[in-house]
Amino acid sequence: MTSDTIFGKIIRKEIPADIVYEDDLALAFKDITPQAPVHILVIPKKPIPKLADASPEDQALMGHLLLTAKQVAEEAGLSNGYRLVVNTGSDGGQTVYHFHIHILGGRQMKWPPG
Ligand code: 5GP
Repeated sequence: MTSDTIFGKIIRKEIPADIVYEDDLALAFKDITPQAPVHILVIPKKPIPKLADASPEDQALMGHLLLTAKQVAEEAGLSNGYRLVVNTGSDGGQTVYHFHIHILGGRQMKWPPG
């Protein structure tokens, strides 16, 4: 089952994306508007719109996504560190309503974020 967002189309291979990792549960691809030298999105194939919509039955899936982000970051060569971001809802700045983890790296990150 996939969602009707642009990420659903990427999962279904209806539109192209630079996919760097895929398994039965997850997909990782390069962000189309990178905010850092490395900017990759990790998404579940299950169409969870946002973190607030995740339920206890998604516990293993959410853990899998986090560990996938770690693996993808390592494979992208981010040995100096990186930042994971989950924008959630309107105030969180979320624009695509299919849950995703941003991996940002390859430069020094600042705090606080904007
Ligand atoms: P959000 O603002 O929801 O946290 O992040 C959505 C991200 O998806 C943005 O960083 C945006 O650049 C990226 N994005 C939006 N549409 C596409 C697309 O069609 N392809 C890819 N690869 N990234 C996209």
